[in-house]
Amino acid sequence: KHFTDYRLSEEIVRALHSLGYETPTEVQKEVIPVALQKQDLVVKSQTGSGKTAAYGIPLCELVDWNENKPQALILTPTRELALQVNEDITNIGRFKRIKATPLFGKHPFHIQKAELKQRTHVVVGTPGRVLDHIERGTLSLERIAYLVIDEADEMLNMGFIEQVQTIIQALPRERVTMLFSATFPEDVAQLSRNYMDDPAQIEI
Ligand code: AMP
Repeated sequence: KHFTDYRLSEEIVRALHSLGYETPTEVQKEVIPVALQKQDLVVKSQTGSGKTAAYGIPLCELVDWNENKPQALILTPTRELALQVNEDITNIGRFKRIKATPLFGKHPFHIQKAELKQRTHVVVGTPGRVLDHIERGTLSLERIAYLVIDEADEMLNMGFIEQVQTIIQALPRERVTMLFSATFPEDVAQLSRNYMDDPAQIEI
């Protein structure tokens, strides 16, 4: 398998090449074709498996550059992961000029607010701060077509269940949802049952 086997645009293939990604990892082989078909996905995988690019590649492929409002929302448990994912998305979307914006707490709200006024395709954030922006009207959810819940088990361990539920309930119903988790305790399983539509189940 090679990245050119998927129907990816030249800009994305070129970015993967410049990142030195030659062949897809196991999780990427499973996730990319399903995500490109816009099917919901529940993925059991560890960090280090290449899971960020597994969802980052199809997201960068699917977003419409011409749209002004955010089209993808990625929820992460920590600021560190939000920054890492934001950087990975920026790299994968480089030649398509995809703009990703990270949102996390203990960082000036007004700076993030100003960033969100610029065209942003992908928002990557921790639940508390994302919810703040939603409640204060600085993050538009109108055009969100893709939701990624990354490290779902960590996020729920950190006590974010209510914020995550509130955010999901505020999103358009017509969307693709992808959930990634290393473990599947009952609360994570419940998230996928409540908010996903017949998801493909992938275990690496
Ligand atoms: P992650 O599991 O998303 O944290 O990724 C783990 C590491 O693998 C990161 O440093 C990525 O840059 C790298 N990586 C992801 N996909 C590939 C690939 N297809 N080929 C080589 N390295 C990759």
